[in-house]
Amino acid sequence: MIFLLLSRLSAKVPSVVYRAALIMKPQVVFVLGGPGAGKGTQCARIVENYSYTHLSAGDLLRAERSREGSEFGQLIDSYIKEGKIVPVEITINLLRKAMEDTMQIDEKKFRFLIDGFPRNEDNLQGWTTVMDGKADVKFVLFFDCSNEVCINRCLERGKSSGRTDDNRASLEKRIQTYLQSTRPIISLYEKQGKVRTVDASCGVDEVFADVKTILDKEG
Ligand code: UDP
Ligand code: MG
Repeated sequence: MIFLLLSRLSAKVPSVVYRAALIMKPQVVFVLGGPGAGKGTQCARIVENYSYTHLSAGDLLRAERSREGSEFGQLIDSYIKEGKIVPVEITINLLRKAMEDTMQIDEKKFRFLIDGFPRNEDNLQGWTTVMDGKADVKFVLFFDCSNEVCINRCLERGKSSGRTDDNRASLEKRIQTYLQSTRPIISLYEKQGKVRTVDASCGVDEVFADVKTILDKEG
């Protein structure tokens, strides 16, 4: 009887160990750049060619905004229109949950492109508090683009995007927020040698060629 019990237990051990070895720590690339710099477009291309999962903080916030019963809908709506950055408590929980859900469904999906985050000190602090030690930030992929190009692209996108913030008034605020709050975060990572910069002012294919060079080097 005891033997039977032991043999059953030991039969379970290897699968537990095997499973633990398979669950990898999430590997994260932060994708930053001005509004309309091409983060979303390039992330979609990356996903087609590499084993990354794309999580856009803005998309997650927009989904939460329209989720029935969300207590944050109104707040998110006004922050987005004003080009302000939503308090990190909301964003980090959406990101954490999206990462957990992805890995729960497929534990081989542990590489993430986190697009449009961290955008300010508050975001960075929230990430550190919640995710430090739980995920590795490999590097920051920075899409560098002039404000003028960014604004024109968003105005063009605004003709069909239906986004409440792709209009001149919101865009001016978004650019200000980007310059005042996000650029310092990029500089901070730059000091740590963690920023990989791409000139994002040319066409999608040209930009992606540079992205590929970077990703192929990073492994
Ligand atoms: N936003 C935020 N926190 C984030 C990401 C986005 O508050 O971590 C809000 C912010 O108001 C921003 C808007 O969502 O201006 C749109 O962000 P998104 O990344 O979708 O815009 P993009 O930069 O891609 O044009
Ligand atoms: Mg985007």
